[in-house]
Amino acid sequence: MIINEYKVGREFMGRLEHGSDLLKSLLSIVQEKDINAGVVEVIGACKRSVVAIYDQEKKVYNNVVLDKPLEIVSCTGNISKLNGKPMIHLHIVLSDHEGKAFGGHVIEGTEVFAGEFYIRELLGPTLERKHDEVTGLNLWA
Ligand code: ZN
Repeated sequence: MIINEYKVGREFMGRLEHGSDLLKSLLSIVQEKDINAGVVEVIGACKRSVVAIYDQEKKVYNNVVLDKPLEIVSCTGNISKLNGKPMIHLHIVLSDHEGKAFGGHVIEGTEVFAGEFYIRELLGPTLERKHDEVTGLNLWA
């Protein structure tokens, strides 16, 4: 188990560009503002979404392309480091016109229709991801 203690740093709130890539846009903000650790939230809508679901047996991510307009009901993630660079681990719940939900781990290819973000910087120890043999994932070490 890892438990780190942080203090709240800067907080950012804003709007993502129509047509931008959700994950890349957030990552560019994190890089520009030099955020080492923190949390991210987004609400809005996507034109197209690509989420990944981890197969725990085969230890591979399976991508699911949702090529339709969907509402971002909830999108939450954290900011830490992987190979010394900032990395956002982002999950999303999307709903269709009937309110049916889809979701998963956000990867590149998710196109923003409208997006309102909130990023909270956390000040404290660096959280670095390392390959974990047991799960096959890049986990905090
Ligand atoms: Zn994930």
